[in-house]
Amino acid sequence: MAIGIQTAAYLFASILFILSLGSLSSQESAKRGVFYGIIGMIIAIIATVLGEGVAGQTYIIIAIAIASAIGLMLARKVEMTAMPQLVAILHSFVGLAAVLVGFGSYLDPKTHELHGAAHIIHLTEVFIGIFIGAITFTGSIIAWGKLEGKVRSKALLYPGRHAVNIVLLLTSIVLGVLFAKQEGTNGMMYLLIMTAIASFIGVMLVMAIGGGDMPVVVSMLNSYSGWAASAAGFMLGNDLLIVTGALVGSSGAILSIHMCHAMNRSFFSVILGGFGNAPVKGEAKAIEGEVTALNHEEVSVLLKEAKTVVIVPGYGMAVAKAQYPIYDMVQTLRKAGKTVRFAIHPVAGRLPGHMNVLLAEANVPYDIVLEMDEINDDMPNTDVVMVIGANDVVNPSAQDDPASSIYGMPVIEAWKAEKVIIMKRSMSAGYSGEDNPLFYKPNSEMLYGDAKDSVEKILSFLKA
Ligand code: NDP
Repeated sequence: MAIGIQTAAYLFASILFILSLGSLSSQESAKRGVFYGIIGMIIAIIATVLGEGVAGQTYIIIAIAIASAIGLMLARKVEMTAMPQLVAILHSFVGLAAVLVGFGSYLDPKTHELHGAAHIIHLTEVFIGIFIGAITFTGSIIAWGKLEGKVRSKALLYPGRHAVNIVLLLTSIVLGVLFAKQEGTNGMMYLLIMTAIASFIGVMLVMAIGGGDMPVVVSMLNSYSGWAASAAGFMLGNDLLIVTGALVGSSGAILSIHMCHAMNRSFFSVILGGFGNAPVKGEAKAIEGEVTALNHEEVSVLLKEAKTVVIVPGYGMAVAKAQYPIYDMVQTLRKAGKTVRFAIHPVAGRLPGHMNVLLAEANVPYDIVLEMDEINDDMPNTDVVMVIGANDVVNPSAQDDPASSIYGMPVIEAWKAEKVIIMKRSMSAGYSGEDNPLFYKPNSEMLYGDAKDSVEKILSFLKA
């Protein structure tokens, strides 16, 4: 393929990627955004594989076919609740690719035909690319382990860890300077030592982040993977990879900043692996009050009497796939003249926008799905709040218990409503591992059981 055609194809693909990101910012246009992204990626792959200087196309096409088949299989099989794990492990592949491209580029004889400043610049690209790639690779594997429950979700904080990280960073810079001065492949040892250090930093950065902050980590690793891809683009001299990597890197960083605002966390504290996160102080507040429970029929009576109902969905709704009967219940209540709305917390579920995607899947109209900030002030005027499979996002300790690990995170103030019904299977804690005093409030009632099963039973009483 002539270089002019390849450049035009790359430009077109870049525009499609920008349109894709723009469209993904709203639910109505998100499908179109995904479509733009797919077309852009197909164009980018074809233009690269058929580009000048690329040999062994047959092997590349076979590799793409095998990888696409595996990707398709995984994507079809994965449950919506396991999406963050899949995303985390895919980020680790980007990091690993940047590391492999870096070593490949260093071993390429053409690299050592460069002289003077060009040689030093290229070696610096290789060094930085491998550094970011290795952090992304191991950090993403730890994030996958935490989300999958294979690695402890509680933050691993040891005294002096920031000093250790700074020493490791300074050592890497010194290694980089020594590496850039070496002729031929004499700098391999420096590169290998730095790779080991960067891998260790990746592990420790994510280990230092507690379960409740994992959403920010997932989007932060998304950003790191973009920068790793961009670094690989510099090493390969591929403009499209540089642009695409920068788009992913900056959009991931913007998303992380938004999420930090939503969770009242300092962005720098999270990206630097818990830097400045004061360890929680003192004993947790003793929970007062008694737990009382209702049955399905009693809940249906409360709903029949209510004028305003707010539903707070959480991770349990996703596990139970309760969104479909919830939609039927909402329709029934609306037909009976009730005002029914959803209150969505920015980190409800296990990935950003998780609840919005599930509710859209079940055809819940967008205009009754409100963000936490839009609906919190209405809680005191609400007759019944149904908390369906949510826990951390309605935990009052976030506001009044400085010893809680989620202290400071904004939450949906469900307890301010006239009546709160909490639908879950047991008294167990949420993702953060914190107990929830909401369950013990005088206006709260538990409805035990699987969320889908419970909603179906309530619906049958409502229709009776
Ligand atoms: P939580 O994980 O805090 O709580 C979910 C509750 O659902 C559990 O207490 C569980 O209780 C209940 N549950 C599980 N299965 C069912 C079922 N089949 N039927 C009924 N209930 C069920 O969820 P939230 O959505 O409130 O909060 C999300 C948490 O996840 C936050 O801490 C957030 O920081 C974190 N997180 C969010 C991410 C994101 O991007 N959104 C990413 C990673 C983490 P029981 O076992 O008793 O049924």
